[in-house]
Amino acid sequence: MPTLSFWGAAGSVTGSKYLIESDRARVLVDCGLFQGPHELRDRNWQEPPFNAAAVNSVLITHAHIDHTGYLPRFVRHGFRGPVYCTHGTAELMRILLPDSARLQEEEADYRNRHKVTKHLPALPLYTEQDAREALKLLQVVPNNGTETKVARDITAEFRVAGHILGSSQVLVHVNSGSGPVAVLFSGDLGKYDQPIIRDPAAPPACDYLLIESTYGDRLHDTEEPKAALERIINDAAQHGGAILIPAFAVGRAQEIVYFIRELEEEKRIPILPVCVDSPMAAAATRAYAKDREEQDDEYAEALKRTPTPIQTRRMLACNTRDESKRINGMQGSRVIISASGMMNGGRVLHHALRLLPDENATVVFVGYQAGGTLGRRVADGEKQVKVLGQWIPVRCKIEKIGGFSAHADWKEVIRWLEGMPSAPRKAFVTHGETGSAEAMAKHIRERFGWQVEVPQYGERVDLV
Ligand SMILES: [Zn+2]
Repeated sequence: MPTLSFWGAAGSVTGSKYLIESDRARVLVDCGLFQGPHELRDRNWQEPPFNAAAVNSVLITHAHIDHTGYLPRFVRHGFRGPVYCTHGTAELMRILLPDSARLQEEEADYRNRHKVTKHLPALPLYTEQDAREALKLLQVVPNNGTETKVARDITAEFRVAGHILGSSQVLVHVNSGSGPVAVLFSGDLGKYDQPIIRDPAAPPACDYLLIESTYGDRLHDTEEPKAALERIINDAAQHGGAILIPAFAVGRAQEIVYFIRELEEEKRIPILPVCVDSPMAAAATRAYAKDREEQDDEYAEALKRTPTPIQTRRMLACNTRDESKRINGMQGSRVIISASGMMNGGRVLHHALRLLPDENATVVFVGYQAGGTLGRRVADGEKQVKVLGQWIPVRCKIEKIGGFSAHADWKEVIRWLEGMPSAPRKAFVTHGETGSAEAMAKHIRERFGWQVEVPQYGERVDLV
């Protein structure tokens, strides 16, 4: 009898890993890195709870590190099979996995130099070379519901999830001796009507459903992010102030540029220099702009007016450090979009050093700021912060835009589930903090009356 076991994103939002085993095959859905608290991150270092060499293939729902970042380590543990994903996911993994490896190497280096390690020398979880080895295993599949054989007795269909470029929901068919069983993995579900990429495709019928619950107990802010950007940019332009937007390089940076381009076209804001100061964001923008299969109708309309919808009138991309420094010397109103999104590293720190003490500047937060990050301290209104080893005063204006999100909130998840042709035998709520997952389970029970469970880490269920 086939089984399904939960080895990540069960009771947490990171480390997504689900194992399907039949009599003759083993397939892993997502191969994510655990992030956040120590107890979770330690799992990245432990032996995998199942034999990596015995897994036939890996299916990836989307490129975010909490869904892919364990893959290089998994390959080190002996996995050699194909890794199936969509074209957009492969493009983004080629940007994100080597970057994740560099961060691992930098962290090990830091521990060695500062002797904050129990093991000397501290080693990285994996290296850039490991990441390159993992990327060799990628096999691209279409994101349109086409059935692909991924192991003996097991096939999979990928459909648009609307979360980031290339993101998919994955339907896995197991055809072993005990009869066919279909398991649908929602992956991370996007919001409806996001710019650039398509809305989530309707879910196909399945026997078992895994549904994410990042926003299982929350609804999105009602202020439209585009209107908020309009207000903030006009306000800053009036007094010649700079605007700094710390943003994730993949997804968020492209959305912001897309909205600014629209606002410029609609003459709702003045044309300002817009600097995207992140080589990773520039690479991700190329991937978003190239992938016609993933773009929505609105993007196709925009293409009739401009060949570059993810570009503003006066946009400067900064690939080198010198180009980045040149932005620092600029005066007057300008928009600087820079990573990391929580100001806990990267080029954004150089801009923070200069702009946080400037009372004419505005810092705009467009995403969640985790505890302990510089972004969180500034967003919380601290008047003195330490940036690159220096204490500086915070005198700039602080703005927050709550409406940006790559995740469906609970009402949008319900809306998506309403498109399901028939009730699954059971739904498993995953990818949420405990309170959030329980709340999502309650919403589904109340709306549909389905049997719903919140699985624990390591739990195994029979697919009967
Ligand atoms: Zn994601």
